[in-house]
Amino acid sequence: MTDGSGFLLIFSGPSGSGKDTVIHDILARDDKTVVSISMTTRAPRVGEVDGVDYYFVTKDEFESHIKNDEMLEWAQYGDNYYGTPKAPVAKWIEEGKTVILEIEVQGADKIRAKYPDVRTMFLMPPSLHVLETRLRDRGTNSEDDIKARLDVAKSEIGRASDYDYIIVNNRLEDAVEDALEIIFRHRRHLRESGAQDEFYYGHQYKELTIDDYIDKDARVLPPNEDFSERGLK
Ligand code: 5GP
Repeated sequence: MTDGSGFLLIFSGPSGSGKDTVIHDILARDDKTVVSISMTTRAPRVGEVDGVDYYFVTKDEFESHIKNDEMLEWAQYGDNYYGTPKAPVAKWIEEGKTVILEIEVQGADKIRAKYPDVRTMFLMPPSLHVLETRLRDRGTNSEDDIKARLDVAKSEIGRASDYDYIIVNNRLEDAVEDALEIIFRHRRHLRESGAQDEFYYGHQYKELTIDDYIDKDARVLPPNEDFSERGLK
């Protein structure tokens, strides 16, 4: 049963930041962490599996879930609904699990407003230059698409200071280790009730600016860094 150490963890980061890989490695190394599977009304893409990539449902089914207050949050993109089913998340929290929601910044805002206890983590690419290289190396994006994704990435990075933890994905193993350290610490904090809340800045934390964070072996940045002053908003 519960030891009170279950919590909701939002994981955001621009396309190309390596989010999927980091989450995959966290799940492989910690059996108390799970990831929420979203529900959508859009059709599965080739290779997507129901119950793995998404729960694929009809519009009527989704609307009835909304009506019955069964969604933690939901949004409409184009003609389709996307959202997080409430029941599995509630069950996992009760079981003491860390529940990752892989969600973009607007979804994060909604959850934060509704559930102030949520912890939030932002995965930062090492630099915009590296991000651009990664997007190009995928080879599947047109020049316009790459530019558009970089613009979205810049505006998302501009919101990073709203997150509790910012992890710089310089080296995959370090990013995974830092994320796990944060998860373990928060779990311990919740278990030891009455403990003072604390922020974990990572063992290689230094005061950094957005301009030089790649050069300084940055791994975890403090919250409240004002990126807007650095031309990224
Ligand atoms: P796609 O159709 O490419 O899989 O996703 C389209 C958009 O829906 C992406 O921006 C993705 O982050 C968002 N999305 C996926 N699942 C959820 C969810 O559960 N809630 C919200 N608010 N957005 C989601």
